[in-house]
Amino acid sequence: MSSEQRTALQSLRCKECATEYPTEALYVCEQCFGPLEACYDFSGFDPSEAKRKIQAGSNGIWRYSDFLPISGRPDSPLEPGLTPLIRADRLAAALDLPPDCEIWIKNDAANPTHSFKDRVVAVALARARELGFSTVACASTGNLANSVAANAAAVGLESFVFVPSDLEEQKLLATAIYGTTLVGVKGTYDDVNRLCTELAEEQNWAFVNVNLRPYYAEGSKTLAYETVEQLGWTLPDRVVCPIASGSLFTKISRGFSEWLELGLVSGELPRFNGAQAAGCAPVAIAYAEGWDYCRPVKPDTIAKSLAIGTPADGPYALDLARRSNGGIDSVSDDQIRAGIRLLAETTGIFTETAGGVTVAVLRELAERGEIGPGERVVVYITGEGLKTLDAAREGFEIHEIEPNLASFADRVPARVAIAN
Ligand SMILES: *Cc1c(COP(=O)(O)O)cnc(C)c1O
Ligand SMILES: [Zn+2]
Repeated sequence: MSSEQRTALQSLRCKECATEYPTEALYVCEQCFGPLEACYDFSGFDPSEAKRKIQAGSNGIWRYSDFLPISGRPDSPLEPGLTPLIRADRLAAALDLPPDCEIWIKNDAANPTHSFKDRVVAVALARARELGFSTVACASTGNLANSVAANAAAVGLESFVFVPSDLEEQKLLATAIYGTTLVGVKGTYDDVNRLCTELAEEQNWAFVNVNLRPYYAEGSKTLAYETVEQLGWTLPDRVVCPIASGSLFTKISRGFSEWLELGLVSGELPRFNGAQAAGCAPVAIAYAEGWDYCRPVKPDTIAKSLAIGTPADGPYALDLARRSNGGIDSVSDDQIRAGIRLLAETTGIFTETAGGVTVAVLRELAERGEIGPGERVVVYITGEGLKTLDAAREGFEIHEIEPNLASFADRVPARVAIAN
């Protein structure tokens, strides 16, 4: 850790009653049980100086260190971030959007362990080391497990990773390989999370998404910062983003808001459209019902990385969707599979089920005519298709032939040319 750097991090503050706490491994308010959030002191901030510093910074999220709850640039070799933002005209055409609409895909599968979780884990582990922890842990729906195990291995921390035991085999293997202690809990993610909350009381471990959650969550802001930078220091009109606990969804908004307040970008907060799987849609249901809280659900969906039945940030996600004139939709498992294929066939990006959820919601918005002329939409693709191969297994044909021309001519049908 470089010592000449200082941090703007000032305190942890309760999101409900604004009680302030020191910047330690704390996450819940003692007064009202509300969640704690990192607070900064940006007094004396100079936007043009900050912009220069960002642009001269690293090729990853540490270029935004001044906006994160850490003291300077950590020395982990697995720096996430600066993932591609790709304009997806063929996808826009397939959705029959007006020609002046722009669809942009933020491909966060391009991170070191192939999901956006590397952002939050990098920040949480950096903070864990600053606070003196030697063991890190997490409750995970899969991608967090991959990322905690890999990032702990990279910097020599002990790790314990807790997942539902029925997780996709690819995600279990891609976690165990890093030499972590992998614990498969016979239950849902919500059972895993409850167990980890109890364990956090007993063990002196940094649970990245329990007692370090206020720091962990801040990592997602970097997706907003990158989007602004990659759009030439402007804001999109709308974002479409998956929701599990609601942390990513709400923190992208916090990232945009911070930069608006600090004068690094101008304009208005985009519309926020949240995406859930119908088999686990507590936030989408609450949105449709007009509730300002979420009723717990028991997940049953192929989108396991989003299968959180009691979303911690659900009320804040609801508020954001309403306040920004966005919305929250849910899609069926068949729509998710179709979403994965649509993205793959129009952009060359193979996403996991969570990305299928996001693209399927984009398609719903397009079909309902909600995306207006001239809109610029950023779609957050948060994970990699190779991790959920089962979702891609059906509906394809392999043309098996003998190694000769006659067999090829006989068994492989001629292809209709693809437009564009
Ligand atoms: C964890 C995860 C999300 C969203 O998580 P939140 O809990 O809402 O922050 C989205 N996509 C993928 C692939 C994930 O692993
Ligand atoms: Zn409080």
